[in-house]
Amino acid sequence: MISRYSPSLLNDFEKCPYFFKIFYLDGRKKELEKPKSYYTLGRTVHDALCKFFSLFVEERTLEKLHELYRQSWREILWEKRGFENKKEEKEYGLRGLAMLEWFYKNYDISVRPKYLENYYETILSDGATLVGKIDRIDEHTDSSLTIIDYKTGKDTMDDEEMPDDLQAGFYTFLVEKKLRRPIKEVKFIYLESRTESNFTPDGGYSKKVEANIKEKINQVENATEFLPKVSYLCKYCDVLPLCPERVNILRSEIPF
Ligand code: SF4
Repeated sequence: MISRYSPSLLNDFEKCPYFFKIFYLDGRKKELEKPKSYYTLGRTVHDALCKFFSLFVEERTLEKLHELYRQSWREILWEKRGFENKKEEKEYGLRGLAMLEWFYKNYDISVRPKYLENYYETILSDGATLVGKIDRIDEHTDSSLTIIDYKTGKDTMDDEEMPDDLQAGFYTFLVEKKLRRPIKEVKFIYLESRTESNFTPDGGYSKKVEANIKEKINQVENATEFLPKVSYLCKYCDVLPLCPERVNILRSEIPF
């Protein structure tokens, strides 16, 4: 039984119901989840940006941003970083430095965000609890808000695709419900791909999102079969050793 729903949890169900069952319903996430290089990169870049915007404006230099990033990296034990070797670690570490430099040179770094990495929780009329941690929320002079999410992966989205994105909708709904303020803009900043996408939610957007989230939660709660869903993601999957499709997946993976 799931007590709290986040966008990533709902996405995991959609990606593979078998994975979802093992990780969340059988409660084996802690036991099976292995450290990942891309988690280390994502976590440290996010942490550096959060701490950076907590500084006084005059302290916000590129050197300071890089220092915060390295500091955050050091806080993770080597065995929890998820790298094969130091060469791979360096490659990832440099990628993060470059992302932060691009961000520093292309965005307003004097802004004073209203909220940084805040956790929001709300209960739907049918009793389900929604939760989410939002990277940054900026406030405008008319008291409307901009929701910002930093992405460190390679995937990007066009502006037109954003209103249909589960995470974008989920965050908009959560913030509107908790802060009761108009949302001027939802923005995803793709630090690796050096681009961004954004949209302005219209008046009926939150209602549509709520219906969509409820439908997805219903699908999870009424599921009786949790079948494996094979995709390109299987090779990164922590549940692969237990997966009924394991033999077929490994057989199809050839290194040329
Ligand atoms: S290996 Fe693939 S099919 Fe099996 S649980 Fe993981 S994601 Fe699902």
